[in-house]
Amino acid sequence: MRLATTFGVSLHLCLVASAGRTAYDHIIVGGGSAGLVLAERLSRDPTVSVAVLEAGSLTEQNRTLIPALYSGFIWDPEIDWRFTTVPQKHVSDNVLLLPRGKTLGGTAAVNGMYFVRAAKNEYDAWETLGNPGWNWDTVNANIKALENFIPASSKDAKTFHATDSASNHGKGGPIEVTYSTYWEPAPLIPAYFSSFNALGIPTNKHASGGDTIGVWQAPCAIDAENRSRSYAVNTFLHPNDRRENLHIITGAHVTRTILADEQLSKAGDVRAVGVQYIADNETRSIHVTERGHVVITAGTYQTPKLLELSGIGNASILKEKGITARVDLPAVGENLQDHVGVLSCFELKDGLGPSVGALNVDSEYTAQQWELYTEERKGALASVHGTTVAMIPFQKIIKADTWTTLKASLDKSLQQFRGTPYEKQIALQRSQLDDESIPQIEFVLLPMLADPTVKAEPNRSYITIGTVLLRPFARGSVHLESDDPLKHPLIDPNYLGITEFETAVMTEALKFVAESLTQTKPLSTLIAAQLSPPSGSSHAELEAFVQQRAFSVWHPAGSASMLPKEEGGVVDPQLKVYGTENLHVADASIIPLQIGTHTMATVYANALRAGEIIEKIYHDAADVNKDTEDSQQKPIHVEL
Ligand SMILES: Cc1cc2nc3c(=O)[nH]c(=O)nc-3n(C[C@H](O)[C@H](O)[C@H](O)COP(=O)(O)OP(=O)(O)OC[C@H]3O[C@@H](n4cnc5c(N)ncnc54)[C@H](O)[C@@H]3O)c2cc1C
Repeated sequence: MRLATTFGVSLHLCLVASAGRTAYDHIIVGGGSAGLVLAERLSRDPTVSVAVLEAGSLTEQNRTLIPALYSGFIWDPEIDWRFTTVPQKHVSDNVLLLPRGKTLGGTAAVNGMYFVRAAKNEYDAWETLGNPGWNWDTVNANIKALENFIPASSKDAKTFHATDSASNHGKGGPIEVTYSTYWEPAPLIPAYFSSFNALGIPTNKHASGGDTIGVWQAPCAIDAENRSRSYAVNTFLHPNDRRENLHIITGAHVTRTILADEQLSKAGDVRAVGVQYIADNETRSIHVTERGHVVITAGTYQTPKLLELSGIGNASILKEKGITARVDLPAVGENLQDHVGVLSCFELKDGLGPSVGALNVDSEYTAQQWELYTEERKGALASVHGTTVAMIPFQKIIKADTWTTLKASLDKSLQQFRGTPYEKQIALQRSQLDDESIPQIEFVLLPMLADPTVKAEPNRSYITIGTVLLRPFARGSVHLESDDPLKHPLIDPNYLGITEFETAVMTEALKFVAESLTQTKPLSTLIAAQLSPPSGSSHAELEAFVQQRAFSVWHPAGSASMLPKEEGGVVDPQLKVYGTENLHVADASIIPLQIGTHTMATVYANALRAGEIIEKIYHDAADVNKDTEDSQQKPIHVEL
């Protein structure tokens, strides 16, 4: 099928129906960010058959492909799952939106496109937590393998610091990565860098090389030539659409993994024999071949739900929902970690030049930008706005005596983890507070008014500085609400759950923005007024602002953590679910300890590694089978 997008780029996709086939060597549940990388990797071997089941459909719309329009998908039932939190106890009982892409390509089809790595020590911590081979070297090598990095023009590199050593990036991989090309209002970004520099935060020219501290420009998954989103659907699937061994079935909502009735392996592990799904209002199923695998890549919120629907999870939670536990695995759905943020908004002085905030407000500017984009792939629409970030440890923004007091309060709160499976990872995370190579807080510059509660005046320009808590200590959970597979799970990220400490550091960060950053030249000379939180807010008012306005920054991880079982693990370092023989997880939910950066590139890299691991297991099993051809095959009984 050849599809023309509304702006003239054509995608050639082959969405193959299962064509009557009922058994595959590998079944991947969820054709999202991780699922499609994995599908491409596993289907490289033409002798192996792979099926991907995706609940959404193929989406190719301006708002997913044109960089500046990316957030337009939020709350659209066609492409957003429209998850929300349960009321957040430490955020004024607010119910917060948790957008997730319900489409082929998953959340990578709709996200903000930053293509960034975490700091070296953050990945190395995964290995320390009991996952041999999961460290900076392997994650970074896999990110590089997926990347085709195109540097910025020398002018953009010089003026807007859109620069990073090319040796930190991959060349020739399928995902196109480059920098923004629209920087208006022009004085703003250089001033942001200079004011941070004046406060002792350096410009970082190598943020993809394992050191993310400082102020820098984030590269994005954008095709440098046609200036549209680069993601699995228009990269992996396009050249590979003729692979006859890869079937992608869209509109297929998986309802559970089908487990064999008996424990088959000697270890007593259960065997996944297929999956059940709903398509066209019909319940259907497909199966894996004798040596095959089921891999769940349904994302941090839905992977635990699917495990629970399949009878894998905390036995008492399952019992409450009327589900028989096949594998009692209490860590399923626990250890949920997400970034949380608050916004500060400012009005800019007159005469600084055009602002992207005028898109869809100023009809003349908007028409001009559409023409520029359509004709030349230039202008405001060709870039993600707000790729200038500063990532720093707390020590750089909080006074030494306050920091000492805050750490003491944190240590008191962290006692709640004593004797729990998470004690070791919390202790490691606590020790990382003293490692100044690990960022704890991020300040993102958005050249627009991003706070919907503040009314924009016509012909005025604004900026928003997003403050993001990168390494929350709070742990949340996600569990199924009922045994109805179509119901959304109950998601409790427990934002600001280590209340005293997390509210305090966010308050200090807001104070830093209001009283230091935006009061320091040259940024201070561009700002007319602070609008939100109101200028001159007291400490108590800022604290209340944090408690009322904190929101999800959309990087949930950890709900099916890769950890030793007794330390809160759901999967082992081979990504195999404990207590199963051939069921794996390979999406953001496996990340055991949240990283202090945006998560997509890491999720991609982990999925590529998952492909290597599963391929090896599959082939090793073939060798064993050859050696023991006389072994009797037990028939597999399946309850459908
Ligand atoms: C608004 C937003 C902006 C973001 N911006 C950035 C950014 O700029 N940079 C960055 O690094 N990260 C960003 N992220 C985070 C990043 O996109 C995610 O971490 C990453 O995409 C998660 O990948 P995943 O494979 O775990 O899940 P997903 O990509 O969400 O994939 C899960 C897939 O499974 C499917 N699925 C779920 N349940 C079922 C079922 N029962 N049956 C069949 N299919 C199912 C879903 O439809 C989806 O396609 C952003 C996230 C959001 C929401």
